Amino acid sequence: MTALPLVFDAPKRGLPPRHLADLSVEERRTAVTELGEKPFRANQLSNHYFGRLTADASAMTDIPAAARARLGDALLPPLLSVVRHVSCDDNTTRKTLWRAHDGTLLESVLMRYPDRVTLCVSSQAGCGMACPFCATGQGGLERNLSTAEIVDQVRAAAAAMRDGDLGEPGRLSNIVFMGMGEPLASLRRVVAAVRRITDPAPAGFGISQRNVTVSTVGLAPAIRKLADERMQVRLAVSLHTPDDESRDTLVPVNNRWPVDEVLSAARYYADVTGRRVSIEYALIRDVNDQPWRADLLARRLRQHLGQLVHVNVIPLNPTPGSEWDASPKAVEREFVRRVNAGGVACTVRDTRGQEIAAACGQLAAEG
Ligand code: SF4
Repeated sequence: MTALPLVFDAPKRGLPPRHLADLSVEERRTAVTELGEKPFRANQLSNHYFGRLTADASAMTDIPAAARARLGDALLPPLLSVVRHVSCDDNTTRKTLWRAHDGTLLESVLMRYPDRVTLCVSSQAGCGMACPFCATGQGGLERNLSTAEIVDQVRAAAAAMRDGDLGEPGRLSNIVFMGMGEPLASLRRVVAAVRRITDPAPAGFGISQRNVTVSTVGLAPAIRKLADERMQVRLAVSLHTPDDESRDTLVPVNNRWPVDEVLSAARYYADVTGRRVSIEYALIRDVNDQPWRADLLARRLRQHLGQLVHVNVIPLNPTPGSEWDASPKAVEREFVRRVNAGGVACTVRDTRGQEIAAACGQLAAEG
């Protein structure tokens, strides 16, 4: 089978100018000093951006006006503007379409649950991985997002929760890198974004690393590099089928890193971080939902990961014009039963946002 063309790194065109959220604490001090200001101004800016969730320099009145303008121009360039919000599930799910400084469109989805509030962020505009069942993959990769463009999605969502945009005021607690794009294709920026998201305020937002999930279709070397960052984030591997023959089609990157390689990298991640790996499995009618595949999935996962794994079955969210469809509920139940019977924990993931095309695999950022 011919591998579809895969794009791992987008051209650098369109990346926004440098922003405070691109920088580590040390880099922020240096940048402020280079602008002729005292290093403590970096802390003030960080307090506003990461602590008070504002990106508007004019509101930072504890900084003298002239310095505020200079620092704002240099370190807080506007990154993302809202094109529109669309809500569903009784206003507990909200998808936001953003426009970046160069016109690039991207989406993020905020979901309020009884016990947590989760933001699904995009790490790229579009995606180059070409999974045939996914709306994002159909449009190809437009470009990577900068670290600050990822972080700013989080800032805006945290502010929206604080301000009660999704009902009672609340606190953003969880971040999943499951929006547009393959996060590990942009590893350096994603790792920096995770640090900004999880570093304690005012260095970052102070969200627990354990509440951050980074997903991947299986870029095995990048999984190992992520493990070597020694963070406590959860790794979610979108496996979708246990055998190379069908995975070569369903997840074309499998041509490069087949199932065994992906699972041994996942094992490395679990060993280094001590965290159980999530396996994502979009269940597709008559494609990957056969009983024998459930048995094979359990066998391969047990062999590679032992107990350090949990399978999330995701009923496929149909995309317009696609021949792929979700499996019937009885088939789904039997699949889950067999994986559990095979000694691997497996549950069905609650899907949100289907009616506003905000569910897994549906983000297309249409303007
Ligand atoms: S499923 Fe994920 S990796 Fe595959 S094309 Fe869609 S966004 Fe990209």
